[in-house]
Amino acid sequence: MTKFSDLKLDPKVLTAIADAGYETPTPIQAGAIPPALEGKDVLGIAQTGTGKTASFTLPMITMLAKGRARARMPRSLVLCPTRELAAQVAENFDIYAKNTKLTKALLIGGVSFGEQDKLIDRGVDVLIATPGRLLDHFERGKLLLTGVQIMVVDEADRMLDMGFIPDIERIFQLTPFTRQTLFFSATMAPEIERITNTFLHAPARIEVARQATTSETIEQRLYALTPTRRDQSAKQKRELLRALIKSEGESCTNAIIFCNRKTEVDILSKSLKTHGLNASPIHGDLEQSQRTRTLDGFRDGSVRFLIASDVAARGLDIPAVSHVFNFDVPSHAEDYVHRIGRTGRAGRKGKAFTISTPADDKYLAAIEALLKGPIPRAESPEGFAASEVSQQAPREREEKPAGRSRSRGGRDRSEPSRDTAHVSEPVAAPKTAEPAPAQTAAPREERRDDRNRDRDRRDRRDNGAPVVGMGDHVPDFILRSFRTAAQTSTPEDEAEGDAES
Ligand code: AMP
Repeated sequence: MTKFSDLKLDPKVLTAIADAGYETPTPIQAGAIPPALEGKDVLGIAQTGTGKTASFTLPMITMLAKGRARARMPRSLVLCPTRELAAQVAENFDIYAKNTKLTKALLIGGVSFGEQDKLIDRGVDVLIATPGRLLDHFERGKLLLTGVQIMVVDEADRMLDMGFIPDIERIFQLTPFTRQTLFFSATMAPEIERITNTFLHAPARIEVARQATTSETIEQRLYALTPTRRDQSAKQKRELLRALIKSEGESCTNAIIFCNRKTEVDILSKSLKTHGLNASPIHGDLEQSQRTRTLDGFRDGSVRFLIASDVAARGLDIPAVSHVFNFDVPSHAEDYVHRIGRTGRAGRKGKAFTISTPADDKYLAAIEALLKGPIPRAESPEGFAASEVSQQAPREREEKPAGRSRSRGGRDRSEPSRDTAHVSEPVAAPKTAEPAPAQTAAPREERRDDRNRDRDRRDRRDNGAPVVGMGDHVPDFILRSFRTAAQTSTPEDEAEGDAES
């Protein structure tokens, strides 16, 4: 078996690795470090949890040990899709470069420019950045990329999802042709393949097994919920989630709970807090300081439940997460793999529970096709019964987001377009479902009758065939009558007059 000492790393780096407690390189490290140290381009197909961060930081530190940084010209560049991931890479640098004099700067959104500007002005060996922020600095003339000898692209598949590929291409073009590129992606989508064919030169390709499909330390379960009413879906999912948390008891020491939308992250977090659970939200719309505080709290155990969007939780390295809950089935099958990989890390046992509704069927099918097998179905916890239709239906409707938010360069993945699928696919009521109470159904029926009566009246007055148009969906206000001072007619006549005018 390969040992770190076989890998021709700088002795100072080897000491730091030993101090960190690592003895043997992981497969991606054993595969990527030797060609990287030879100056070759590397294409690493690996996801987080495989040790890939060290697989590029260790050779970079070794190679950068020779030479000095020049003002405003970083010698190496690491591009990450999210702030959290960039911050994590920076932490890794601090650990492994602690015995060297290398300097680094972190360019991420939500952190003030001033401090980072000063560092870059002085000259840094390693610049760790998100693509948008890097280009902002470049465009402000604060940065030159012509001194970049090593460029790392981390989590390229996520960059693709977030619409960052044009930025990445631009950054590639701003760096010297002679640079060395270390490129990492969990999957090789055609667009990623294209980029690597364009910008990498004869790369050493190292592919490591997918964590989730091979990990036997994660127990997966699927809880299929059929809401009694579509507008009760979110509420009943929250009830099921609480029941699951309760049934897991103390074995659920902490958990990341994933939602597909930022709005749902906020709602769920508030709801869990209301029910006495220690929960905090994390998503891209929150202040960076709050995100950092929440993550620190989750790491140190003062926050038990981290309610997260995919983007915010991407690549988070928190070793001891006992449970992952998918409050929503992810609409991209890959995200399922990333999400559940947050638990069962480093040989620990973990549980990944997913709540699905019939509206998720097609996403579920895609996930199971990717996993090459079904997620084991589980019975709802004992005693769980979704509450019956309540007066809260209008509130549930309010919870729907008003619109989609966009992030720089593309669609924000935590606000995916699947809303339409959710609302347009009818949720079949279970056989056992109670019919909606009469008092809620009746007014709606009455309204429809009124509309039909109004339409019939109009049709009678029209000389031709009824116009096909809005069908039953005529807004009420259109059917309202206009009264003028001269009018003394009965309400019946008013409606007839309306139809004529
Ligand atoms: P990453 O895939 O880079 O997110 O790393 C996942 C986790 O593995 C992190 O907690 C690393 O500190 C840890 N790790 C990295 N290299 C090794 C190694 N050689 N042996 C054991 N753990 C490691």
